[in-house]
Amino acid sequence: MSTDSSQTSNTKRLQGLVAIITGGASGIGECCAKVFVKQEAKVVIADIQDELGNSLCRQLGSEQTISYIHCDVTCDSDVQNAVDLAITRYGKLDIMFSNAGIAGKPELSILSTENEDFKRVFDVNVYGAFLAAKHAARVMVPAKKGCIIFTASMVSVNCPQAPHPYVASKHALVGLAKNLCVELGQYGIRVNSISPYVVITPQARKTLSMPVNEMEDVICAAANLKKAVLEGEDVAEAAVYLGSNASKYVSGINLVVDGGFSLTNPSFA
Ligand code: NAD
Repeated sequence: MSTDSSQTSNTKRLQGLVAIITGGASGIGECCAKVFVKQEAKVVIADIQDELGNSLCRQLGSEQTISYIHCDVTCDSDVQNAVDLAITRYGKLDIMFSNAGIAGKPELSILSTENEDFKRVFDVNVYGAFLAAKHAARVMVPAKKGCIIFTASMVSVNCPQAPHPYVASKHALVGLAKNLCVELGQYGIRVNSISPYVVITPQARKTLSMPVNEMEDVICAAANLKKAVLEGEDVAEAAVYLGSNASKYVSGINLVVDGGFSLTNPSFA
C-alpha cells in the first residue's frame, strides 16, 4: 500500500512520548516498534518471545530508547511490571499500544470450534487488552493524559467466514475501546482501535488458506482494489497518528486500514 512521503518524512511525530507495545517482538508490533523509535518515541516492547524481543531492542538502540520486558498479557503482574518499567526507566507512559493477539485454530464451524480454543483466544485478545488498558489507566488517570490503542482487525467491521473466537474477540475490542473512551475522556485519555486487513506476519502465514500472491490476486479482482495485502508500516502509520498529537480530538474510533476492502466486499473471507 503506497504511503505519502510528505506525511512520513517527518521523523519526530512521537518525540518525547513513551510507549508500550504489547506483542512488539514480531509482525505488526515489531514494525510499529521500528517506526515508533524512528519517530523518536521511547519504547517498551512487552512480549513472550524473549529472544526476538531482546534482539530487536539491540538492533534499534540502547536502553535509553528501547527496552524489552517479558510480559504475558494474560498475566496481571506481568502487565503491571511492563507499565512500571516504562515509569521507572522513562518517567511516564503516554501510549499503551495493546497489539498482542492470537488467531486460534482455523476452524470455521461452531460445531468444531473447541471450547478451550475459544477461551484461549479471548484470554489473550480481550482479557490481555483489558489488563493493558487497566494498568495504563492506573498511571494515565493521575497524569491526566494518555492514549490507549487496541489492534482489532478488519473482521471487527464485518462478519467474514473466519474463526468465531477471533472474530468475536476483535468485535469485543472495538466495544472496549468505545466504552473506555467514554469513561476515560474526562481524564484526557483517548482510546481507539485499529482494524487492519491482511499483513503478512508469522500469525497471518499460519492462517492463510492460499499463497500470498494468489490471495492478493483473488482479493483485488473481487474487491476492485489495486493492492490488498498491507505492509506493517501501513498499520504503524495509523498507530503513529492515533498516538500523536495530530489526533488529539480523535477518541472512540475504529480506524480501518484496509484500502476500502471491507466496503467493497464485506462478506469476503
Ligand atoms: P504475530 O504473531 O507476528 O505477532 C503477535 C505477537 O504477539 C507475537 O510477537 C507474539 O509473541 C505476541 N503474543 C502472543 N501471545 C502473547 C501473550 N500472551 N502475551 C504477550 N505477547 C503475546 O502476529 P501479527 O499478525 O503481527 O498480529 C499482531 C496483532 O494484529 C494481533 O492482535 C492480530 O490479531 C492483529 N491483526 C493481524 C492481521 C494480519 O493480517 N497479520 C490483521 C488484522 C489484525
